[in-house]
Amino acid sequence: MMGEAPPSASTAFQPRVSIEQVEEGTDLAPRFDVRGLLTVVTTDAESGDVMMVGVMNAEALARTIETREAHYWSRSRQCLWRKGATSGLIQHVIEMRIDDDQDAVWLRVRTAGTGANCHVGYRSCFYRRVDLPADEVISASAAELVFCETHKTFDPVAVYGDVPNPTQL
Ligand SMILES: [Zn+2]
Repeated sequence: MMGEAPPSASTAFQPRVSIEQVEEGTDLAPRFDVRGLLTVVTTDAESGDVMMVGVMNAEALARTIETREAHYWSRSRQCLWRKGATSGLIQHVIEMRIDDDQDAVWLRVRTAGTGANCHVGYRSCFYRRVDLPADEVISASAAELVFCETHKTFDPVAVYGDVPNPTQL
C-alpha cells in the first residue's frame, strides 16, 4: 500500500477483496493511488461550502479517524500535516464519508478559531471564481478571476511569520 516500510497496525485498513465489498459493503477498504494518496474534499459542516481539496496517505487517514481532527499529506513539504498545528485553525471532523470505489474522502468539518481554512487567509481555498460572462465567449487565455471573498479572516504573515509559503510555482 505505502511502498516502503510495511504499514503499522494503526494504518492497516481492510484489504480490498471484491467490487461488491468495496462498493456495497461496510468495510473501510480505501484505495490509495500509486503515490499512496487519496483525494479529500473538505466542506464546512454548517454552510456546505467547499473549503479545500487535499490528499491523505494511509497515516493521515488513520490519524484523522483516531483524533477526529483533519490530517492531510502535504505534497509541497512531503510530510504528514495536522491541519491547524501552526495556525490553531483545527478542523474538527463532524462527518467523514468515502466514495463508491473508496479512493476519495469527503470531510465535513467545523473549523476552530476564525473559521479560516486557507493558508492565504481566506475562509475557503476557493475564494475566487473564474469569470464566465453570460453574454460573451472567452478564450482560456482571456479568462479572469473574480474575488468571491472580500476580506481575509486572518493575517498569514502574523500567523506563520517567515515560514515558507507552501504554494509551488
Ligand atoms: Zn488555501
